[in-house]
Amino acid sequence: MKIICIGRNYVDHAKELNNPIPEKPIFFIKPDTALLRDNVFYIPPYSKEIHYELELVVKIKKVGKCINRKFAHKYYDEVSLGLDLTARDLQRECKEKGLPWEIAKGFDSSAPIGKWLQKGDLSTMDFTLTKNGETVQEGNPSQMLFDIDSLIEYVSQYITLKKGDLLFSGTPKGVGLMSKGDYFEAFLEGEKLINLRVK
Ligand code: ZN
Repeated sequence: MKIICIGRNYVDHAKELNNPIPEKPIFFIKPDTALLRDNVFYIPPYSKEIHYELELVVKIKKVGKCINRKFAHKYYDEVSLGLDLTARDLQRECKEKGLPWEIAKGFDSSAPIGKWLQKGDLSTMDFTLTKNGETVQEGNPSQMLFDIDSLIEYVSQYITLKKGDLLFSGTPKGVGLMSKGDYFEAFLEGEKLINLRVK
């Protein structure tokens, strides 16, 4: 099982990090060891700047390669929210040196995942992240540069999708720092899917 993550899929987030708006999707992979099903995240010793990024996630339900956008919806029927945790300090270093991002994105427990729901109309699903009770991120898939089906088409040209793979579809603006003692909750259409304590 692999975790495919999309970068810069919301204009307002690309802008907040001073990144250019991409002309085609940007993706990277996290290993299966990044998955965190627990409700506790421990800040790792190698970063002083772990950021949260709330993202809509779909679970791939069958194997597929070179999937046409028209048929992409047949490849998933469960949806959840995930946090694409990022060691922003390490990522900055990688970007400056033109190095790959894995160290900043693929570390253990860098992908907390929520409860799974049957997919409804993805284009209208509001999602929200709160930090210590205050809303820090709000998004809706209608704001994506590339929608889920386009992402599946794009990624599957290069990488075969398999049952159980997860697609993290990018984060809206409002990303920020996680500190010891913080408490995060994530909601999809008002339903709580994630609660996470930072230690
Ligand atoms: Zn992300």
